Amino acid sequence: MNRALAAGVLVLGGQCGVDAQRRNPTGTATVMAVLTLIFAITAIVAIGYAIRLLSRPTEERAGRGWRVALLLVVACAALGLGGYNAVLVQRRNAAKQAVERGRELMQRGKTGEAEQEFRRAQELDPKSKAPQEELDKVAKARDEARRRAEQGTGTVAPGGAGGAAGAAGRSAPAGHPQRRESQVRITRYEIDVTLDVQKHSLSAEARFVVQAKRGTVREFDLALSPQCAVQLLTVGGKSAERKREGEWLTITSQRPIDARQGAEVYIRYKGFGKNRLLPAGDVLSPEGSYLRPESRWCPAIGYLEFRSPVTARVTVPRGQMALGPGRLVAQQPAPDGGTTYVWECPQNAMGVALAAGPWQKLEGKAGDLPVTVLLWKKHASRAAHILAVTKRAVALFEELYGPFPYDKLALGEIPFFPGGYSPSSMILLGEILFEDNRRIAKQFDAIIAHEVAHQWWGNLVVPQGPGAGWLAEGFAEYASILYVGETSGEKAFRRALWDAKQQYHFLNQNPPEEAIIDTDPFNQQGSYTGVVYSKGAYVLHMLRQVIGDDAFRAALRGFLDDRRFGVGTIDEFRAEAEEHSGRKLDGFFNQWLERVGTIELVYDWQARSLGGGEWETIVTLDQTSDPPYKMPIDLQIVTRAGRSLDTGELTGTHSEFRFVTRDEPQDIDIDPRDNLLLAVPKRKSASAPQPSS
Ligand SMILES: [Zn+2]
Repeated sequence: MNRALAAGVLVLGGQCGVDAQRRNPTGTATVMAVLTLIFAITAIVAIGYAIRLLSRPTEERAGRGWRVALLLVVACAALGLGGYNAVLVQRRNAAKQAVERGRELMQRGKTGEAEQEFRRAQELDPKSKAPQEELDKVAKARDEARRRAEQGTGTVAPGGAGGAAGAAGRSAPAGHPQRRESQVRITRYEIDVTLDVQKHSLSAEARFVVQAKRGTVREFDLALSPQCAVQLLTVGGKSAERKREGEWLTITSQRPIDARQGAEVYIRYKGFGKNRLLPAGDVLSPEGSYLRPESRWCPAIGYLEFRSPVTARVTVPRGQMALGPGRLVAQQPAPDGGTTYVWECPQNAMGVALAAGPWQKLEGKAGDLPVTVLLWKKHASRAAHILAVTKRAVALFEELYGPFPYDKLALGEIPFFPGGYSPSSMILLGEILFEDNRRIAKQFDAIIAHEVAHQWWGNLVVPQGPGAGWLAEGFAEYASILYVGETSGEKAFRRALWDAKQQYHFLNQNPPEEAIIDTDPFNQQGSYTGVVYSKGAYVLHMLRQVIGDDAFRAALRGFLDDRRFGVGTIDEFRAEAEEHSGRKLDGFFNQWLERVGTIELVYDWQARSLGGGEWETIVTLDQTSDPPYKMPIDLQIVTRAGRSLDTGELTGTHSEFRFVTRDEPQDIDIDPRDNLLLAVPKRKSASAPQPSS
């Protein structure tokens, strides 16, 4: 996933962080652990006495029986109490960890996932008050967000400081503090950065060329985290005035900057943190680090607009490796036993992202593309599998979407992050993905494939405009479903589609659903994941049903090819789909992107014998969605002899279909292959007499 554009998080509820498990148990837990130990010792002592009694000579055995029995009862009781106590201790610890993890998620604006953690904590330890207190805070935060949305007074981006100028969501209130259209573009970006992972801080020098977008400019805005202090700033080699307003740095150049030559900006700064979790949600720590464009750790224009080649020289301490955009062009010793890694990305990157960690390295190739997997020692045995999945995903997506955009692909493990994240030429995998959790294990390959797909959807072409998140997340999610089909067959493909449908229905239960076009990558509360990822993937699958495989493929490919290393909008994608299919698709795009909800059907069927062994079945479908959707729909008649599949067209509120079969119908299946995002159809007359003749 690409958090730059959307969630960056598949909802992986119901687990606590590895990181949390390393923490010490609390005071109460310690007391309970001691109790467990006392019970265990009691049991051992009692059993010991019993054995001694039994081993005495016969003459001393008078009255032995009842004493042995008593000792064994004591031993059993102690064991039982000890075991019960141990389970309690474990559950309490797990609950505490879930609460902590939820708090960290809250800090990053991930209310939905935080809520899941608190609920889990509540289940684990019903007596603890902390989860309920946190849940109250979640409810409060939701109310506040709703109130603000109603008043149109702005939204808070995940991580607090992650806004950008480029993604002008249609529903975004005017004057959004995090959105500022940039007066300049960046055409070349270099950064020299030293990470002090012990102190959770960095010092850096950024050097880049800015050009006026139109005419000439003297004043322009750059975004830089308020936690970064500028020490020196020049434009065109001369000192420049600067003003700070939150994360915005307004710079006034002594000389006008034109649209051709531009001017070089130089900024030396130091930044961040008190602890490993930086204010904007990134992490700098000895266990691992990551810095994402949306945290504004380096000065730049709004990151969805940032399209520039990047050179990053990253110095890390002894024992750490650094990962940056593009290919590794040099690796040099640095003072105190550290290393400087020089990464160069000659193609346009989408912002500047870095990661570091004490990794073990596995290198391989996907065709000609160098692929590196960088994992912590304890997970290093997973590297070969990740490499194999990545190779298959790259091969499939190169076939579908064109050549891999960058010079390498490196996958690096990072702490804390609740999923995957995919900046240009890199995939960062949160430690949570390696946990012993059945649900994650089941999705693991699909998650890797989703992230690989972001190299095209989100990086090669950066989405812009209303509903921008769909062009990254919905497309990457559908790519991962295609990957599942390619590697595990048709049945698995259908199953993955069905899962996406369930996710959509599940995630939209509580918060009011938003239309895809109204979603805001910078305010991913509520229904965002269900709508942009799950419904988003389905919309693509349905588009494929409507325009056919060839036109669908050509539209995807055309959209990417025409905008390589540039930007694109949903309207442009629709134009591609219309061009390659030769059909007007405004109806399709309206009903699926600009509306909430989905197709809801009430159905009925009646069969009668036509004689000569033939049967006629009339199926009626009534749409309760208003206005009704227009889509092709599969209907299957089930007879004892077999199944017959037919495709009809849903047009108005009432549709009627007639089938003739050679055998008596037993049942009908509506949309048996899950090609439509359909709510579970309801039978009109459950008690209707059928079949009748
Ligand atoms: Zn994604």
